[in-house]
Amino acid sequence: MPNYKKLKHRPYPDSTKKSQPIKPYCSFLHTAIIPTHFNGVINMVESVPISNGHDILIRGGLVVSGKRTQKLDVAIKGEKIAAIETHPSELRASREIDGSGYFVLPGIIDAHNHPINLDKMDTFTLSSAFGGVTTVIPFMQNMRSRGIEGTTSETIENFIEESSDISYLDFGVHAILFGDDDVTTEVPKLIDMGVISFKMYMTYPKRGMMMPDERMLEAMSIASSMGGLAMVHAENGYCIDYLTEAFIEAGKTGREYYAKSQPRILEVEAANRAATYATVTDCPLYVVHLSAREVLAVIDRYKAEGLSIFGETCPQYLDLTNQMVLDHGALAKIGPPLRSSEDNEAMWGGIKSGVVDTVASDFCGFNKSQKYSGGRSTGTIRELDDIDDHSSIFDASFGGNWTEQMLPVVYEEGVNKGRITVNKLVEVMCENPAKIFGIYPRKGTISVGSDADIVLFDPTIQHTLSADLQHCEADFTMFEGKEILGKPVFSMQRGNVVIEDGKIHTKQGSAVYLAGDVNLTASAPNGHKIV
Ligand SMILES: [Zn+2]
Repeated sequence: MPNYKKLKHRPYPDSTKKSQPIKPYCSFLHTAIIPTHFNGVINMVESVPISNGHDILIRGGLVVSGKRTQKLDVAIKGEKIAAIETHPSELRASREIDGSGYFVLPGIIDAHNHPINLDKMDTFTLSSAFGGVTTVIPFMQNMRSRGIEGTTSETIENFIEESSDISYLDFGVHAILFGDDDVTTEVPKLIDMGVISFKMYMTYPKRGMMMPDERMLEAMSIASSMGGLAMVHAENGYCIDYLTEAFIEAGKTGREYYAKSQPRILEVEAANRAATYATVTDCPLYVVHLSAREVLAVIDRYKAEGLSIFGETCPQYLDLTNQMVLDHGALAKIGPPLRSSEDNEAMWGGIKSGVVDTVASDFCGFNKSQKYSGGRSTGTIRELDDIDDHSSIFDASFGGNWTEQMLPVVYEEGVNKGRITVNKLVEVMCENPAKIFGIYPRKGTISVGSDADIVLFDPTIQHTLSADLQHCEADFTMFEGKEILGKPVFSMQRGNVVIEDGKIHTKQGSAVYLAGDVNLTASAPNGHKIV
C-alpha cells in the first residue's frame, strides 16, 4: 500500500476562525512514497506519480445541489468535472485542495445585468467574479439612442466579439427589443446566434424604451415558434408617466415622491397583462425583478394554469426598502422602486415556495455623480461637488451595482437567517437560471461532464460590505456597512482558477460566449425542467 500523506481536515464549522485562505493540499504533482524493506528498516526510496490523470481535486467539501448536501471529492480534468466520489475516495490529482469546512457550490450565474454604463464587461465581470459569480447573462440592445447605428443583432454580434476580449467570465446574452426593432427579422437571427431570450419594457414610454403591446405580441409569437423566451420588465409605463408628471407639475420632486410615482399595482397589472399575452401566444415568459408582494399571486396563478412562466427577484428586493431612498435619495433609485419589509419577506416566501425561480442582480454600474445628475438619462454628468442633493428625484438615473454583494447578501439574509436552505440558494442562483436559459447542464451544476465552474464558500468568515472593497468602477453600494457571515473565497471556471487568495487569476480574453440552446431550456418539451 502506498503511504499517502494524511490529509489535514479542518473541523467544520470552525467558529474561531476569522479568515482562512485556501491552502492547496499539494500544488505540484502528488507523489506517493513507496516504502521498501531493507534489513528491517523502512526506507523511502522510490516515488511514482499517482495523479490518476486528474488536474485538480477538491477533497472533502460539502458539495451543494438543489436537492442535497454531501461530503464529496470532486476531480477536474481540463475544463470539465471528470469524477465525483463519496469522501474519502481514492481519487488523486496533480493539485489537491482541502475542501473541508467549505460549501462547494456551482459557480453563481447572474442572469440579469446591464454592463453598458460606467462598468462594462471588463469591470462588471471582475466585480462579479469576486462575488462568486462565474457566468453572466447581460442584456444588450440596439444602441441607436446613444448614436451607435446598427440593428439589435449587429450590435449583439459586436458585443459578443468585444466581450470575448475583455470579459473575465463566460457569458450568454439576452436581447432587449424596442418598439423600433424589426422583430420579424431580428428574433430569428438572434435565436440562430444563440440569443434565445428577449426582454421587453412595459414601462418608460417617454424614454422611448417601452414596447407597444401589439409589437410585444408579435415578438412573443415569433420567439415562441422558435423555442425562444420572452422576458418583461412589468410595470405600467403610462401610469408611471402620468403620476410622475403630476408630481412634477405640483412641485413634488423630492425623494419621498419616488415610490408614490410607481405604485405596486402597476407591477401587478403589467405582470398580469404580460402573462395574458404569453398565454395567448403560447410563449414562455420570464418576469424580471419582482418587487411587489401582490405580483407573486399572478405568477403563481399562471404557473398553476400551465403557462411556462418564471419569476426573478434581486438581492435589493430581498433586503432593502424605500427607507434607502428616503435616506440616500438618488443613489437608491431603481425601477421598480424599493418597497417595504413586508415585500422583502414575501419575496423570500416566494423563493421558498417556488413561485420565484431565480435571484439575479440587475447590475447597472454608475458612479454617484452619474446617479445624481441623471447620467445617460439626461446626457449630462456633473461633478459630485456641484450636485445639489435636493434636486428632483425624477432626474436621477435608475440602477445600482449589486453583483459582488449578491451571494453574500442572499446567504446572510436567506441561509443564516433561516429563510431558505443553502440548497434553495443553489437552485435559484445556479441551477434554475442555467435551465431556463438553455445552458444546463454545462453550467449551473456540479456534475460529471459539466464545466468545472466551482466556488468554495467559507461560512465562517465575518466581513463587512463596503464600496471601498468592491471591484467595479461604481463608487458606492447600497449595502454599505452590512455585516455578513460567509464569503466566497475561491472560484474556478472551466477548471481555471478565477479567484484565490483575494486576487483574480483568470485573464481577460479567456471567457467564452455561451449560446443558449432552445432544446435544453426549462420550457422545451424535452428540456431540463425546474422541479
Ligand atoms: Zn434590468
